[in-house]
Amino acid sequence: MGVNRKKQLITAALLLAAAAFAFYIIYQKSSSFEGYYEARAREVRETCPEYDIRVVFDPALEMITAKQTVVFHNNTAGELREVYFHLYPNAFRSIESAPFPAEELKYAYPEGFSQGYLNVTGVRAGGKKLEYRAEGTVLKVTLPEPLKSGEKIKIEMDFEEKIPFSLGRFGHGKNTYNFGNWYPILCVYDENGWNKDPYYSIGDPFYSETAVYTVSITAPSSYTIAASGRLVEKIREGDRTKWTFRADLVRDFAWMAGSEFKVLSGKVDGVKVSTYYFGSNEAAAKKALEFGKQAIRFFNDYFGPYPYEEYSIVAADFYIGGMEYPNLVLIDWHLFDDETLLEYVVAHETAHQWWYGLVGNNQVKEPWLDEALTEYSTVLYYEGVYGRRRGGEVYQDFIVYPYRFFELGNNSGPILRSLPQFAGWGEYDATVYKKGAIMLKELESRLGKTKLRQVLRLYLRENAYGNATTEDFVKAVNRVMGTDFSNIIYDMLKKSGRLQERDAA
Ligand SMILES: [Zn+2]
Repeated sequence: MGVNRKKQLITAALLLAAAAFAFYIIYQKSSSFEGYYEARAREVRETCPEYDIRVVFDPALEMITAKQTVVFHNNTAGELREVYFHLYPNAFRSIESAPFPAEELKYAYPEGFSQGYLNVTGVRAGGKKLEYRAEGTVLKVTLPEPLKSGEKIKIEMDFEEKIPFSLGRFGHGKNTYNFGNWYPILCVYDENGWNKDPYYSIGDPFYSETAVYTVSITAPSSYTIAASGRLVEKIREGDRTKWTFRADLVRDFAWMAGSEFKVLSGKVDGVKVSTYYFGSNEAAAKKALEFGKQAIRFFNDYFGPYPYEEYSIVAADFYIGGMEYPNLVLIDWHLFDDETLLEYVVAHETAHQWWYGLVGNNQVKEPWLDEALTEYSTVLYYEGVYGRRRGGEVYQDFIVYPYRFFELGNNSGPILRSLPQFAGWGEYDATVYKKGAIMLKELESRLGKTKLRQVLRLYLRENAYGNATTEDFVKAVNRVMGTDFSNIIYDMLKKSGRLQERDAA
């Protein structure tokens, strides 16, 4: 074979390889999760709610005043004469309705009970005043005329809020103001009609649709604001600063304010990860940032990409430990002093960005779906990052032992239960988080780890930006396995007492 002929062949081979590679890239892109998300995103964006909220925050008065507009699409099959919103801050009006278990009130209100509330002061549509009625944590707005299926309406409302001195999701302590579940958010209309559940004192009793948010917050310039979405504008107006955030396709919007916040940021897979902290614990903040980045990188690879630009881990006056919101999580600042716990909580809350954030569910009715998956994912994180041995240790220490300890004096009921069916946090935590994760480990040993990973990837693909049910989870298992696992899964979910858990090897 001559040199020239050889050269031609090599060139042809190279061209072919390049073409194959280009095809592979194109194919990869179109079949990748990102592509899938984009299609889902386009579809959801067409009829999802759009919130525009303008807030003036006055920490001296512990008040906010706000103007909110919501574009609501009637995605139901029939006509709607009214629309419902949750007014979660109204749970904080009295100590009896405060969303904390009785035994924890002393931690929630370290300086004694402090009142919080949300008053709606006007509702309008198309320049006309609308009738409305607030009852407890639910607001009913009567529409000017029936809204037909497929139609939309823009509802405007004014409200004001008192922020309690309380170390929960909504309230403030000495260092931070926590605005979780703080504005009138649309109730979900599903096959059961409007879901108007109260603010239960156990679990995360929330259920919402993915929406688009523009939120501007005017605060004294000494304050730093951390929020869902990304900052699109920051303008100084005298001694105040207006922060405008945009959050695209998220199921809630949370923000936090602190006058002493310091920020550390880094990038992972194109996502800006930040840690907000106060005091002198920079070393722990750096750790939190590393854990957050590590978790994003691991879950991106294991499940599918985090499709948002930013993710914030915020140290907070928050006695509960950790709490997930889209693109933002609250972490009790005390946990920054315990590296082991800090990593576990950061990994757990980060996993919620997939199970809760991307794939939502009715957290009142089927709380196991997000919490058990998140606990299981946290173990996956340790296995993936540090190896099976460390993963096994964490599984035993954080899940199996606490569960067995609970079982010593109690008989756990079914995992698949709604919030009001649990007597308290102890039972809820042992059953939904721990027993739920053990059930998923059991499922993993039946299906194989790779197959369960495929199930979770499919479950994510099929339900991104939506709300999934237990049935959707079972469907994903059945599709991947090609056999009907319904009975096996429901048996485990409905079983009282111990499962035949096989501990992690
Ligand atoms: Zn959780």
